Amino acid sequence: ALMITDECINCDVCEPECPNEAIFMGPEIYQIDPDKCTECVGHFDAPQCQQVCPVACIPNDPQRVESHTQLMQKYLRLTQAA
Ligand code: SF4
Ligand code: SF4
Repeated sequence: ALMITDECINCDVCEPECPNEAIFMGPEIYQIDPDKCTECVGHFDAPQCQQVCPVACIPNDPQRVESHTQLMQKYLRLTQAA
C-alpha cells in the first residue's frame, strides 16, 4: 500500500483518482486505507494518486510492503466484495 505523508497540502486531486476509494480526508490531511490500496494493481499500470500529486507526498508505506501477487489478491477480494 501507499501512504500520504504530512507534506500533503490537501489539494484534493488524488481522492477522485483512486479506483478503490482508498483515499479519504483524515483529521488534518488526506489518508490512505491500506486495506483498500492495491497500488492500483488490477486497474492501472501505475499508482494514479502518485501521478497527480503536485508535491510528491505519496510514497510506499514501509509498514505495508506487498508483492504484486498480494496486491492482485487484494484487488480480487475488493472487486468480489463489491
Ligand atoms: Fe488508490 Fe492507487 Fe493511490 Fe492506492 S495507489 S491509494 S489504489 S490511487
Ligand atoms: Fe495531498 Fe497529494 Fe492528495 Fe493533494 S494529491 S491531497 S497534496 S496527497
